[in-house]
Amino acid sequence: MHTLRTAARWLAVCGALGVVLASAAPPAQVHAWSVHHAAMHPTAHRDIAAHADVPRYTSRGSVDVATRTVTMEQHLEWVNSTGVTVTLLPFRLFANLPDFAGQTTIVRARIDGVPVGYRYNPTRSIVEVMLPYPLSQASRVMVSLDYHTTIPAGLGQTKYGAFNDDGTTLSFASAYPLLAMSIGGVWQTADPDTKGDLVNSPIGLYDVTVTIPSTHQLVSTGSVIAVQQTPTTQTVRVVSGLQRDFTFVLTTLPATSATVDGTRVTVYAPTSEENQAATQTLTAATQALRLFNARFGQYPYRELDVVAVDAASFYGVEYPGLILMQDRTVASGKRLESTVVHEVAHQWFYNLVGNDVQSDAWVDESLATYAQVIYRRAYGGEDAAQSELAELQRQYDRLIERELDAPVQQHMRTYTLYTFNVLAYAKGALFYEALRNDIGPDAFDRMLLEYVSSYRYAHADSTSMRDVATTICAFTVDALFATWIHPSLQRRLP
Ligand SMILES: [Zn+2]
Repeated sequence: MHTLRTAARWLAVCGALGVVLASAAPPAQVHAWSVHHAAMHPTAHRDIAAHADVPRYTSRGSVDVATRTVTMEQHLEWVNSTGVTVTLLPFRLFANLPDFAGQTTIVRARIDGVPVGYRYNPTRSIVEVMLPYPLSQASRVMVSLDYHTTIPAGLGQTKYGAFNDDGTTLSFASAYPLLAMSIGGVWQTADPDTKGDLVNSPIGLYDVTVTIPSTHQLVSTGSVIAVQQTPTTQTVRVVSGLQRDFTFVLTTLPATSATVDGTRVTVYAPTSEENQAATQTLTAATQALRLFNARFGQYPYRELDVVAVDAASFYGVEYPGLILMQDRTVASGKRLESTVVHEVAHQWFYNLVGNDVQSDAWVDESLATYAQVIYRRAYGGEDAAQSELAELQRQYDRLIERELDAPVQQHMRTYTLYTFNVLAYAKGALFYEALRNDIGPDAFDRMLLEYVSSYRYAHADSTSMRDVATTICAFTVDALFATWIHPSLQRRLP
């Protein structure tokens, strides 16, 4: 995420909007994993077979544009990998958080086809599905949830713009019941702090078939593999690769595309002869993708999409294979290149290599911010890199003057919005420059490649990069991590 420096003023009241229920969908068909090759880069096809037991979401339904409602029948095939026997399955309903101002309602829950009970938490941001029998480690289950989710209209300036109808684009960010994370056998069900990113999830596979009006284009995580058209509708089937979330938008914006190293990059943004916003966005995204393929390892998907939306709370925000950009940033060109570069880097640092975006937000934000320096150094030379670093240093110096310096690593709850933006982004990126100066550019580049290779499709934490750096350098970098990131990263010598 690339946040604004001032807090958005959220409205306190959410609207419960009308819904239209679709007719009953056909029964669940668990799809073959090989269908997901369509969304994966050829060099990553074998990764799917190696992750056969990841959660698999198969959904079918429709979007009613007039009521801004998606109605779905969702089937999750899940293998219990929590390490403990479970008796219920909590699903996150992000739409019901006050910042989203939407509404997800569960209509029916079934386990292996048999109706079961479910209950909401007090904020309705979690629904717990009751299992009819205790489910032991490594057991498999099919969880079916019928639901509908409604997004607000025209609230991009006051609510979360990634979940909104702005008149041109309907954005459905994380708009489905997403199984909560289990860490150490404990379900993580606390409402997220909304200063930064919200979605913690393991890698999964998504197969989504949705009927939408012919007037709109579906843009989403993954790749389209089939379209059936009638005079007024289109039914689109999309499959994802190994990705952490599924987000889609319906848009009437024009598209412009280019291909980089086998990946199709498409930008959806208003454009005209006077305004080259879409072209500039596409250039930044393709240059970033080409560079990061070389520096971090090949982007493992066929597609990357960028869509301009009305939003006040971010310049850009990353979803797997889909970046939402603030339309003002795209139109003005101000901060455009650095924001696009930052969000493209998140495809490696957040999606490919996951981390807890609430307890360890610095892990991906520092790297995505430092990726801006890597980009400047590659395309503009050392002066451009130093200019980017000077701006980050200026932000950090101002924080020091205000006597707010603190460890980079904190839980999202303990930052203020201001300290989060400076510590996790600017100070974290300056730390990576200090580390590069300490271990040398060649070792630093090897470290980044090794980090992505080691934690690909998995979760990294605050100790992960320290451990990779130590392996690469064969000498301790603990002191540097302890000074900049958190004192606990200094290990005692045996
Ligand atoms: Zn970010």
